[in-house]
Amino acid sequence: MFDYLVVGAGFAGCTLAERLAAALDKSVLLVDKRHHIGGNAYDHHDEAGVLVHKYGPHIFHTNSRDVFTYLSRFTEWHPYQHRVQAWVDGRLVPIPINLDTINTLYGTSYTAFALADFFKSVAEPRDSIKTSEDVIISQVGRELYEKFFRNYTRKQWGLDPSELDAAVTARVPVRTSRDDRYFTDAYQAMPLLGYTRMFERMLAHRNIKVMLNTDYHEIEGSVLYDEVIFTGPIDEYFDFRFGKLPYRSLQFKFETLNTWQAQPVAVINYPNDNLYTRVTEFKHITGQAHGATTRVYEFPQADGDPYYPIPRAENATLYRRYQELADATPGVHFVGRLGTYKYYNMDQVVAQALTLFAKIAGVRRAECVGA
Ligand SMILES: Cc1cc2nc3c(=O)[nH]c(=O)nc-3n(C[C@H](O)[C@H](O)[C@H](O)COP(=O)(O)OP(=O)(O)OC[C@H]3O[C@@H](n4cnc5c(N)ncnc54)[C@H](O)[C@@H]3O)c2cc1C
Repeated sequence: MFDYLVVGAGFAGCTLAERLAAALDKSVLLVDKRHHIGGNAYDHHDEAGVLVHKYGPHIFHTNSRDVFTYLSRFTEWHPYQHRVQAWVDGRLVPIPINLDTINTLYGTSYTAFALADFFKSVAEPRDSIKTSEDVIISQVGRELYEKFFRNYTRKQWGLDPSELDAAVTARVPVRTSRDDRYFTDAYQAMPLLGYTRMFERMLAHRNIKVMLNTDYHEIEGSVLYDEVIFTGPIDEYFDFRFGKLPYRSLQFKFETLNTWQAQPVAVINYPNDNLYTRVTEFKHITGQAHGATTRVYEFPQADGDPYYPIPRAENATLYRRYQELADATPGVHFVGRLGTYKYYNMDQVVAQALTLFAKIAGVRRAECVGA
C-alpha cells in the first residue's frame, strides 16, 4: 500500500515524489512508461560519449529563486548563457533580432537609437493583437517577419502565424542593443553532471519506489494507493471522452562528427525551406570537453510523442472541459505540461509542482523548498 502513486518521472513527477517522500514522509510509487526517468529532459551519453538530450535541447533558465534553490539541492551547476543564430539570406545572424542582426543583414551601421527609429518606420501598428502574425508585424514589419518568423512558425506548428495565438510568438523579444543572449533570466545554468543525474538524486529516497517501462494502466487495480499525482496527458486519463487534445510532435536526427566544434553557437535556426527548424550542438550547452561532437536536427511533425500543446482558442476550450472533469475527480492531482495542457518550461513545471505540494501539505510555497 502506497500513500501516493505518481505517474510520470519528468520534472513534475520527480519534484512531487521527492517532496512527498522527504518532507511529508509519504510512501510513493513512481511509474513511467519509458525506460528512463527524467521525462523529456532526459539526457545520456551517446555511443561516442557525448552528453546529449534525447528529446531535444533543454536549456535551464529561471527568474524564480525558489525553483533554483530547490533544484540546487540535487545538483551543482555549469553556468551557461544560451545563444542562437539564424540562417537568413545566406548568413548567420543573432536571434532574437538585435542591433548586430539588422546591421549585418542590411549593411547599415545603426546605433541603438537609430535602430529604434528603424523598427518604428517598418512596424505596422495593429488595433488589436490577436495572432502571432500581429505580434511580429506590429513590432518589426512584414519584411523581417517573412525573413525570420513566417516559415519557422509554419514548420514548427504546421500553421500560419495568422492562425496561432499571440502568446506563441510573444516569447521572442526584439532588442535595440547588442545583447545576443537568448534568455535574460536571473538564473541561467545547466546541471553540472546532466539532468538525469539530478533526477537520480531527487529520487534516491527510501520512501520512493520507481517502476520504469510501466504504463499506469498496467498496475491500476493491482497496486493499492491513496492518491494519484498524474503528469501524463489529461485527455488520456479520461479515455479521450471529449476528443483528443492536439499536440505538435518532433522527430530528432542525431549526427556525430569527428571534430571539436561544428557550429559557432549552440543553436542555429533555419527559418527557410529546409524541413528541419533548428540544429543544436550539445557541447556548447553542457560545456563537455570531447574530441567529437554531436548535433541534433529537429523535424516538426503532426504525429508522434506529444511535445507541444497547440495554443489555439478551441484547444483551450477543449482543455477546460477536461479540467472541469479533473476538478470533480477526488484524489487525483493533475500537474505538468501534459497534465495541464500548458506550454510550460522546466522551471515553470517545478514551480507548479511545488505549489501543488504546498497545497497538499497545507504550507506556504516558500516553506516547501527546504529539506
Ligand atoms: C523539444 C523540446 C525542447 C524543450 N526545451 C526546453 C528548454 O530549453 N527549456 C525549458 O525550460 N523547457 C524546455 N522544454 C519543456 C520541458 O520539456 C518541459 O517543461 C518539461 O519536460 C515538463 O515536465 P513534465 O514532468 O511536465 O512532463 P514530461 O517531461 O513530459 O514527463 C511526463 C512523463 O510522463 C510519462 N507518462 C505519460 N503517460 C504515461 C502513462 N500512461 N503511464 C506512465 N507514464 C506516463 C512520460 O513517459 C513522461 O516521462 C522543451 C520541450 C521540448 C519538447
